[in-house]
Amino acid sequence: MKTLHDFDFSYKNVLVRCDLNVPMKDSKITDDNRIRESLATLQYLIDQQAKVIVFSHLGRVKTEEDKKGKSLEPVAKVLSELLGKDVLFCFETRGDTLEAMVESMDPGDVLLVENTRFEDVDGNKESGNDPELGAYWASLGDYFVNDAFGTCHRAHASNVGIASYLPSACGFLVEKELEVLGGAIRDPKRPFVVILGGAKVHDKIGLIEHLLTIADRIIIGGGMSFTFLKAQGYEIGKSLLDEESLDFCDRILAEASQKLVLPIDCVVTTEVVSGSPSRVVSVSEIGEDEIGVDVGPETIQIYQDVLKDAKTIIMNGPMGVFEIPDFAKGTQALFELMAKSDAITIVGGGDSGSAAKNMGFSGKFTRISTGGGASLELLEGKVLPGIEVLDRKRV
Ligand code: AMP
Repeated sequence: MKTLHDFDFSYKNVLVRCDLNVPMKDSKITDDNRIRESLATLQYLIDQQAKVIVFSHLGRVKTEEDKKGKSLEPVAKVLSELLGKDVLFCFETRGDTLEAMVESMDPGDVLLVENTRFEDVDGNKESGNDPELGAYWASLGDYFVNDAFGTCHRAHASNVGIASYLPSACGFLVEKELEVLGGAIRDPKRPFVVILGGAKVHDKIGLIEHLLTIADRIIIGGGMSFTFLKAQGYEIGKSLLDEESLDFCDRILAEASQKLVLPIDCVVTTEVVSGSPSRVVSVSEIGEDEIGVDVGPETIQIYQDVLKDAKTIIMNGPMGVFEIPDFAKGTQALFELMAKSDAITIVGGGDSGSAAKNMGFSGKFTRISTGGGASLELLEGKVLPGIEVLDRKRV
């Protein structure tokens, strides 16, 4: 796959798909991390004297009403501050104004185009990868750079569409994600331990199947562990049960129980709210009315033993209801074990990534991935359409 070093971008129009899908409240950006993650590629292109035309989506937009509060204009302002230079902003996603602005750019200029999802209002053109839209956007540039790892598992007009028509490369962020996460999966240093948590088994069936073929151990915690415990014959009270996945859990326990590490104790409560009384019990002692909300201290001890010699650790999904601090201790303890380890340590994006950052673990792991769905699909061994297209012959 081509990277930024494979082209001479000077004086060329370079279309860059970034992931600037930042969380906002009242049109104010509450976390600018995604903008910061995009800076290296943008700065490189500016230094190359390219004319840099940036595309991104922001949120989900299906109706005119949805557009409210979803303009990328506040992002252009923060991007200007972080790059230390004016960033032009075009309120249109196509048409005369956009074309005139592109036409009048000087080398080293940066122009941010309005939210690509505004094109979804009229017939789902962005998310449906409308070929006419991809070709139109491509007509504005000489090259395409995909640096939006978070959307690489989707075929949209602003990634796969544009890339189908132009010589294309991945940006530094995508390159890094593929190197670290992709590399860990392709050729892991062993022992390779995967930690899976979160809510439903069902969402992670493909992932578990694939990882069982490459990982040495798989730690299962969080809500999904209760379906496994139920399949083992334990009474789990009112804990999360993913009934439709019970057969799957049965089969996996029969085929690969020596690889799986399940909780032996857990924190239970009767109401999943802050301040609700809780107690630690063995998994064989969960009461009829009780709900398992976190892993217990003996389970953490087992995690410590399993992780002690690991050379690669990938974590995806919290060990408990981490949104409530009382039930976040298992997730926190696991992050601490990972942070102390000499292994390559990777935290998947999405919920686990934000949990790690909120708990103060930024910079403590080899990588916290920027892509939730994309990192899951990469771990599942799937080909990501936004990556695959970068290798394809142009039409
Ligand atoms: P996922 O998106 O599948 O990674 O799931 C993340 C969600 O799983 C978070 O919102 C957690 O609150 C939830 N979760 C983790 N452990 C439990 C549990 N024991 N019971 C219910 N929900 C849980």
